[in-house]
Amino acid sequence: MQDANCIFCRIVRGELPSRKVYEDEDVLAFHDINPLAGVHFLIIPKQHLASMMDAGEQHTGVLGKMMVLAPRLARESGSEDGFRLILNTGRVGRQEVDHVHMHIIGGKQPLGPMLPRA
Ligand code: AMP
Ligand code: ZN
Repeated sequence: MQDANCIFCRIVRGELPSRKVYEDEDVLAFHDINPLAGVHFLIIPKQHLASMMDAGEQHTGVLGKMMVLAPRLARESGSEDGFRLILNTGRVGRQEVDHVHMHIIGGKQPLGPMLPRA
């Protein structure tokens, strides 16, 4: 399933450019356009899934694949000593693009705190 107007579906279809990190039949990984650290890329399912709030049993395979790819692609991208995986979800999670995407954020330097304390 694809969504005609979804920007990440448009990247999957090649209608919008991206700096590709990895691709197979199920998933695509590409650099974030506005990186927050030395390493910052996104892993997405090729099939449109708006939010993790919509994930079901049928997504177990692709989501598992994305999770297992994360450390491999992080290492290959220069994040050998760890990384942070962020999956912003819904209004409370401040998700801005409504196509599930894992942020892989890392690099050589330790990142800041996970969240500022209220
Ligand atoms: P989120 O708040 O988790 O929905 O984050 C969306 C992320 O997508 C942000 O980090 C944006 O910089 C990134 N982004 C938006 N448009 C593009 C694009 N065309 N190519 C790469 N990254 C993008
Ligand atoms: Zn989409």
